[in-house]
Amino acid sequence: MMIVDYHTHTSLCKHGEGSIEDYVRRGIDLGLHEIGCSEHVPMPEGFDSVHRMDISQYYADYAPAVGALKENTKIRSLCGRGIEADYFPGTEDWINGFIRENSFDYVIGSVHFIGEWGFDNPVFVHHYEERDIDSTYEAYFEAIRKSARSGLFDIIGHCDLVKKFGHRPKKDLTDILRETMKVIADHHLCIEINTSGLRKPVKEIYPSEPILSFAKEFKIPLTLGSDAHSPEDVARDFDKAVALVDRYGGGKITVFEERNRREVSVH
Ligand code: ZN
Ligand code: FE
Ligand code: FE
Ligand code: ZN
Repeated sequence: MMIVDYHTHTSLCKHGEGSIEDYVRRGIDLGLHEIGCSEHVPMPEGFDSVHRMDISQYYADYAPAVGALKENTKIRSLCGRGIEADYFPGTEDWINGFIRENSFDYVIGSVHFIGEWGFDNPVFVHHYEERDIDSTYEAYFEAIRKSARSGLFDIIGHCDLVKKFGHRPKKDLTDILRETMKVIADHHLCIEINTSGLRKPVKEIYPSEPILSFAKEFKIPLTLGSDAHSPEDVARDFDKAVALVDRYGGGKITVFEERNRREVSVH
């Protein structure tokens, strides 16, 4: 039986609070079997530097802090060395090089941009009204499919993040959602059940149950993440996430070590 929280952020991402040690301590208090650190990846040329550590901070702070926890024999198996990498066309080679020169247990691949638009950033939320909502959804899921095809990642993060502020498509997207899950399955990726959507205007877990039913059809492995940006949100609403694991993943989640995966039961 195993419960993990693979999606957490600390003060290093500049919009979170707490240190890596605070998160691991919180995970221990909650009785989690693993807490994964998945800080936002540094990007080349200071891209989006207001929302992430830069490369020098990665090597000076993040890598040593996670490394020290992993070397502590008491908590070695409790601490996952992860990263939340952005899928942003044009940066694939840089991201690939960064991932290769660092030893991660897992890499989450997330789409936070449609073109240049940081669509999950509250500062740019007005763009939803200025664009056709169906085109926005289509472009988002196209980016998700490209991220799956990139071969860079282990887990596709919050795979319907485009709903974050509660904007809904007008047209029926069933075929697009099904096709997107098929591409994820064909590329042997996991998806996460990410509870942070419950704390956002949409008030829903990522992804929705229709998406999870396609994930089940294509036997996509699931894992768990809170996307906590403060220690008290670690494993937040995991009772609901575990109910979804039961319904759409046969009660099993996937855990990672050095980018090798294994399936474990949540009960
Ligand atoms: Zn963040
Ligand atoms: Fe994210
Ligand atoms: Fe995140
Ligand atoms: Zn996030």
